[in-house]
Amino acid sequence: MEGWIVTNGRSGRPRVVIVGGGFGGLWAARALAGVPVDVTLVDRRNHHLFQPLLYQVATAALSPADIATPIRSILRAQRNAEVLLAEVTGVDAAGRSVHLSGGRDLAYDYLIVATGATHAYFGHPEWEPMAPGLKTVEDATEIRKRFLVAFEAAEQEEDPDRRRALLTFAVVGAGPTGVEMAGAMAEVARHAISRDFRHVDPTTARIILLEGGPRVLAAYDADLSAKAQAALRDKGVEVRTGAIVTRIEPDAVFVGDERIPARNVVWAAGVTASPIGAMLGAPVDRVGRVPVLPDLSVPGHPEVFVIGDLASLASGGGRPLPGVAQVAMQMGRRAAANVLATMEGAKREPFHYFDKGNLATIGRRAAVFQRGGAKLFGWTAWMMWLFVHIFSLIGFRNRATVFVQWAWSYLTWQRGARLITGEVGDELDPPGAPLGTRGRPSPSHATTATASAGSDAPAEDEVPGRDGADRHDAKAGGR
Ligand SMILES: Cc1cc2nc3c(=O)[nH]c(=O)nc-3n(C[C@H](O)[C@H](O)[C@H](O)COP(=O)(O)OP(=O)(O)OC[C@H]3O[C@@H](n4cnc5c(N)ncnc54)[C@H](O)[C@@H]3O)c2cc1C
Repeated sequence: MEGWIVTNGRSGRPRVVIVGGGFGGLWAARALAGVPVDVTLVDRRNHHLFQPLLYQVATAALSPADIATPIRSILRAQRNAEVLLAEVTGVDAAGRSVHLSGGRDLAYDYLIVATGATHAYFGHPEWEPMAPGLKTVEDATEIRKRFLVAFEAAEQEEDPDRRRALLTFAVVGAGPTGVEMAGAMAEVARHAISRDFRHVDPTTARIILLEGGPRVLAAYDADLSAKAQAALRDKGVEVRTGAIVTRIEPDAVFVGDERIPARNVVWAAGVTASPIGAMLGAPVDRVGRVPVLPDLSVPGHPEVFVIGDLASLASGGGRPLPGVAQVAMQMGRRAAANVLATMEGAKREPFHYFDKGNLATIGRRAAVFQRGGAKLFGWTAWMMWLFVHIFSLIGFRNRATVFVQWAWSYLTWQRGARLITGEVGDELDPPGAPLGTRGRPSPSHATTATASAGSDAPAEDEVPGRDGADRHDAKAGGR
């Protein structure tokens, strides 16, 4: 396999290599159906993930397979497309090839890069083991495991302080993901598992939402933010704004100098761009995104397009477009159209974002929607959120399964995916043992840094994303 080079177009047609099968890459591949090119989509995972519903996996409402679909099966009927399960480790823009894990190279005529972004810890990567972020199926099942195991451990814990820490859950960052996580965690504790334990009362669990900025859901108008905050409080979430997280330990999160004993911390604060952007031979911005030209190509490389969360393109107002699914999908279609235009000798069109509005849910019967001056809150927005997400899921099976799960949950308050997967021996502290000594980094690994960081602390490694601090948009509706 060493040094293997795939030559362009088995059929002599141009080869379009797409890196990433997320919203951007997949939509680009689909838009090239019927175009006289050979498409190779490379992804290091075999599935397209519907990230907007990841928090439902993390809070045991849905199973991973409900929101993930094999990329190969999505493109099964597209004759000009093939799928490679491989990690891209480098790009030779001058030589027009991408390097794959295992030493192989893949040549291209056109390259569309859509490798997205991931969470960032404001310069404190050592916080990650104690405060996982939500980006992949593995992240979601790990958070679900920690969340459910905390109640199991509390059931066996006799010391009231330790039990209290076990039943305290802190969510850092009150963008849409943080709000969704906190609202869902509160509903699980207050309703879904409220009668399942004999020695602890799950309804006494503390869910704390820590936001460095002055309000939750900062991308929405202040009146919607205030309503969302009130709805969170009604659900039993303690919302703390202006709360800058300065340190995370295995058993506690610090806000300023205040130590909050909490065995579970979820990170929903910052995001950073995929490292592939820096490998393209073009400048990247301070957060790793690639500033693209209006036709979405990379300066100096008209055959290379960058789309989705990895791209930086100013919107009408001069600010970068938000890292949301609608932007990625629309960019995917535009990049594909510009490949075709180039092949036909036609003029490339600039990308224009059509904003369908922002939607975020707080929990049962509570959501917010905003598009310009049009705003909705409560039941109507929630119904809209439900149907937008059902219809945006890929595949009839997923839509049907999620619809049934949600209907069942709505009627019974139950959660259908309360599985603790993997061994729990290391996760359950034996009664009397010092907190956090098993299955977690030892306290010596906890940072002692006190640099100011929080969900809206300006930092070098942030990128405007759905939950990034300087994000100016939240959730694109109509997904
Ligand atoms: C928890 C969460 C909730 C969200 N909720 C919403 C929402 O409600 N509404 C909304 O509009 N947006 C939401 N977003 C944002 C939205 O999901 C992103 O904007 C969108 O996924 C960006 O699409 P993309 O194609 O740029 O990247 P992604 O969808 O992230 O896809 C990147 C793909 O590239 C692959 N990849 C990465 N690196 C490599 C490599 N080196 N080699 C090979 N493959 C690679 C990955 O495996 C992945 O499949 C949410 C995001 C998260 C994390």
